[in-house]
Amino acid sequence: MSIPRFAKSSFSKALWTAYNFYRNGISFHSQLSQVDALNDSDRETIISYQRNRLRQLILHAYQTTSYYRELLKTDSQDISQIPPLEKETIKEQSADLCSESFSPKQRIKNATGGSTGSPLTFYQDRNYWNQRNLSVYYFDRWAGWDFGQSQLIIWGALADLKDNGNWKQKLNHFWRNQFWLNGFQLTDSEMYNAYKKMEKLKPETILAYPSSLFQFAKFLSENELKPTCSLRGIISSAEMLHPHYRTLSENVFNTKIYNRYGGREVGLIAMECAEGRMHINCRDIYLEIDSEQPYKTPGDILVTQLNNYAMPFIRYRIGDIGLLSDEVCPCGNLLPVLKELLGRSTATFKTKNGELVHGGYFTQQFYDLDGVIQFQLIQETFEQCVLKIVINQQWTENTSNYLIQKIQDALGSDVSVNVEFVDEIALPKSGKREFTISKVA
Ligand SMILES: [Zn+2]
Repeated sequence: MSIPRFAKSSFSKALWTAYNFYRNGISFHSQLSQVDALNDSDRETIISYQRNRLRQLILHAYQTTSYYRELLKTDSQDISQIPPLEKETIKEQSADLCSESFSPKQRIKNATGGSTGSPLTFYQDRNYWNQRNLSVYYFDRWAGWDFGQSQLIIWGALADLKDNGNWKQKLNHFWRNQFWLNGFQLTDSEMYNAYKKMEKLKPETILAYPSSLFQFAKFLSENELKPTCSLRGIISSAEMLHPHYRTLSENVFNTKIYNRYGGREVGLIAMECAEGRMHINCRDIYLEIDSEQPYKTPGDILVTQLNNYAMPFIRYRIGDIGLLSDEVCPCGNLLPVLKELLGRSTATFKTKNGELVHGGYFTQQFYDLDGVIQFQLIQETFEQCVLKIVINQQWTENTSNYLIQKIQDALGSDVSVNVEFVDEIALPKSGKREFTISKVA
């Protein structure tokens, strides 16, 4: 290891510590040790911790939100009496779901394009974010990550599309010892630059959208470029990791992929271990399968986020399908295992010039956009797209023009976008909604 590389990771590690002290307070190290100890403990300890947190959350929701007060009628903390929380309900009764014990200033706004093509705005509190970060630190270390180490991030960044990123982002990347490949727009030259940077900076882990990772691996393989750095692992997140993505990427980068399952609404839900099982993050999440036989028949995943008191999500139907397992994992960790996960898939679009555009670019345009209940974007040909859209009263012609402009920014100004207003977007046979489809790429 050369000295500058060592100095860079030490410098970055010191700044990570400063950042975590700023966020979590001086007790950060002991907080992280407690998280480690709980997640590595026996099944009984973690489940009893989880049940306790669940009871506290339900009581808090009943006492401080008008939605749950109305719904539950009593302060019984029996979760089985609570109907699943649907996205539509969150949209329609957002204010009633917010806790009265948090002032609007204490709520942190967040949004998602939604795994089902249904944009959603919601609120989280500071403690939620602190706990979420602690869990990410714990589980990412399963994949070989640690504070200060060099990391390649292949992720979508809207700001980077036009202006190459602003100084704030660059500063963040620098002190975190990260370098980026923008997954929203993968050009041959960007991918080649990322490869050159990998050779120079020798990252120890990669964090990536699986579809973008796959495209990058395919580019390297087709151009006979072999990364020489020795990676400890790759963290794949935010969308479905298909088996063919995994096979090619593990082969090209010569390391294991660790699948991380989560969502902006609830944080980290489960993480893959060295033995290839997805362990449920029971410290933060109470996970149920909406099925008569959750160990036999797959069903909708219902997520209760145990730390977000600003806007409690209890039995939230996140839009993914799963199955539980009662197996004890050979890796030694005793967190319960999610056996099957049929998650969200994101299409990759292709422009006439051969540039690849990640489907997440389009869904991010819908974050925080008023007027849209549901959408689906289909790339029919290089010249033509269809945007199917379910709207409400807040929809205006400006919204339509805005969306067309954003689609053309990515795919080309000569691409025609037919906006079709529909009453609903039918669910395909698979049961999984696809909000971006490309018939070209
Ligand atoms: Zn395991």
